[in-house]
Amino acid sequence: MSVLPIRVIGDPVLRQIALPVGKVTDDIRALAADMIDTMYDAPGRGLAAPQVGVSLRMFVMDCHWKDGVVRDPVVVIDPEIISRSKTTKPFTEGCLSIPGIGVEVERPSDVTLRWRDLEGVVHMVDFTDVASVIVQHEYDHLDGILNTDLLSETEAARVAEALAALQAP
Ligand code: ZN
Repeated sequence: MSVLPIRVIGDPVLRQIALPVGKVTDDIRALAADMIDTMYDAPGRGLAAPQVGVSLRMFVMDCHWKDGVVRDPVVVIDPEIISRSKTTKPFTEGCLSIPGIGVEVERPSDVTLRWRDLEGVVHMVDFTDVASVIVQHEYDHLDGILNTDLLSETEAARVAEALAALQAP
C-alpha cells in the first residue's frame, strides 16, 4: 500500500469521463487500498480514481473520520446516483485537486447512491448532510466535473484569481 500523488486542476485526467471498472481484479483491489491511504494522508474525506490519474469509475470515502470517529473507509465501484432531492443546500467544499480553495456549492440535500463494493455486493443507501455532499462531489469527478464548475457568479468571481494562480504554468 502506498500514498499516490494527487492530480491538481489543469491536469487533463480530471476532465475525462471515467470508464466503468467492471470486474474487480487484484489491480483494482490494490488501487482501492492505495486510494484509501492517499485519502487519509491528504487528509481528505473522499478521493476519486481520476484524482490519482486513473480514469475509472470508483472512489473511496470516509465521511466522519475527521470528526474523531473510528476510521471506516468505503470503496465505491461503478456508482450511480439514482435519485436526488428537489431541496438543495449550500455547503463550503474543499477538493484535494484544488488545494487551498474552499468554495460554496449548492447541491441537492439528499441523494440515493447505488454501487458495488470490492466483493461485488450491491449497496443502495440514502445519504444526507455532509455525506450527501461528499457522494455528489466524488461522483462528479467520474464525469470530469469539478466543484468550481458549479459556482454562482459571485462565488466564481470571488475565487477567480486564486484559481488562475493555481493553474498558471
Ligand atoms: Zn474533489
